[in-house]
Amino acid sequence: MELPEDMPSDTSRVWFILEETPYLYWLIPHSPTHGVLGLIGTEEEKTRKALGRLLEKKNMEPIEFQYAHIPLYAQWIPIHKKVGDSHICLVGNAAGHVKVTTVGGLFTGFRGARGVVEAILNGGSSREFSALRRELNLHHLLRRMLNRFTQHEYVRLLDLLNPSAQKTLGQFTRDETPKLICHLFRKQPRLLLFGLKSLLSVK
Ligand SMILES: Cc1cc2nc3c(=O)[nH]c(=O)nc-3n(C[C@H](O)[C@H](O)[C@H](O)COP(=O)(O)OP(=O)(O)OC[C@H]3O[C@@H](n4cnc5c(N)ncnc54)[C@H](O)[C@@H]3O)c2cc1C
Repeated sequence: MELPEDMPSDTSRVWFILEETPYLYWLIPHSPTHGVLGLIGTEEEKTRKALGRLLEKKNMEPIEFQYAHIPLYAQWIPIHKKVGDSHICLVGNAAGHVKVTTVGGLFTGFRGARGVVEAILNGGSSREFSALRRELNLHHLLRRMLNRFTQHEYVRLLDLLNPSAQKTLGQFTRDETPKLICHLFRKQPRLLLFGLKSLLSVK
């Protein structure tokens, strides 16, 4: 879609509208004039309608639509199977290698592929798989926390992002979550307290 007039092309926007989705909406520029508006949802029809409502509310005109189903990582699954004489290894979406916080699976999918390479070269063992599994489990835990968030808690979370925490968000990508979280806790210790409280509410 065309970027709204008040939107600079070096800035992304994110909306958390919990009555529409437990995930997020985003608007990310990909040129000085155009960008991609996105929404992650759990039910196809409801998500389609929610996207339509946002487009209407913000007076935005889409040029083209894309959508797809993405698997949600719930737990690590065995990725290797023998079919006849062939070894089959699943990576990427097929193995659920998707971070359930942002529902991003590109980077984690490639890490899965690197894990398979390591396992082939090392007779079955792969450090990449252990690291990927830890990371996916971390995102799973964060998602369970986020799913319990109220609008008020999202506001509180954003309010806690002081300037140095915001700077940290600019230093690490969303694919470096463990490092990012450690740095955020150092820059804004109240985030750690907030995180611990949220963790205790996870069933
Ligand atoms: C709109 C949208 C935005 C996204 N944005 C991001 C993002 O910003 N960052 C991010 O990290 N992730 C993002 N994702 C998720 C990411 O795209 C996927 O996790 C990633 O593409 C998974 O890669 P994959 O190769 O495992 O699977 P896929 O990309 O689904 O590739 C599987 C391929 O196999 C083909 N195929 C299926 N069945 C057969 C068959 N029987 N025979 C032959 N071929 C077959 C399919 O046609 C497809 O080309 C987004 C997804 C969507 C839908």
